[in-house]
Amino acid sequence: MKKGSVIIISAPSGCGKSTIISALMKRGDLDLHFSVSATNRRPREGEVHGVNYFFLETDHFKQLIDDDRFVEWEEVYPGRYYGTLKSEIERIVGEGHNVILDIDVKGGVNVKKLMADRAISIFIMPPSVDTLRCRLQGRATDSSEEIDRRVAKAETEIGFAPQFDHTVVNDRLDEAVDRVHSLISDFVK
Ligand code: 5GP
Repeated sequence: MKKGSVIIISAPSGCGKSTIISALMKRGDLDLHFSVSATNRRPREGEVHGVNYFFLETDHFKQLIDDDRFVEWEEVYPGRYYGTLKSEIERIVGEGHNVILDIDVKGGVNVKKLMADRAISIFIMPPSVDTLRCRLQGRATDSSEEIDRRVAKAETEIGFAPQFDHTVVNDRLDEAVDRVHSLISDFVK
């Protein structure tokens, strides 16, 4: 197996990206290690610092930008910053594992450009914008204004899909996981 590959998974939020990543990691056969991003948003219920994200104060996040500690960072929502830490990628790749990134579409395009042949980029597509809205409502972690914002943004984000190596429609979750698994498997083997 090829070691130290970078797997980029991007999607509008609510497309099941995190669920797909968890399912892939649970299978355990592709030696995938999750790159924990930094963000200045508050933790949702059940989220743990250092596991889901490094939850930082805004000043701290901006200090890391100034110190050039990010591979990439984006203001994904107004005032909400997210970034991939160089230290995370270096640690995981340095230990000889493959690294999997859950990042927004712009970040995904940027990391693919930087990493070129070392990276595979996969865009997870919702079956439709209506399905996406239903999923976000079902998740019940966001307010209705937040859901409206995310749906509007998703429509723009879908336009980035052609810049990814592959697009996988998440209609049935198990089929989407199989498809993503086989793309990664072909890439790392
Ligand atoms: P959420 O707040 O729902 O966890 O994430 C919002 C969006 O930020 C998702 O699309 C997620 O993939 C993206 N995101 C998470 N970490 C990073 C990162 O390090 N860089 C970028 N560019 N986006 C990220």
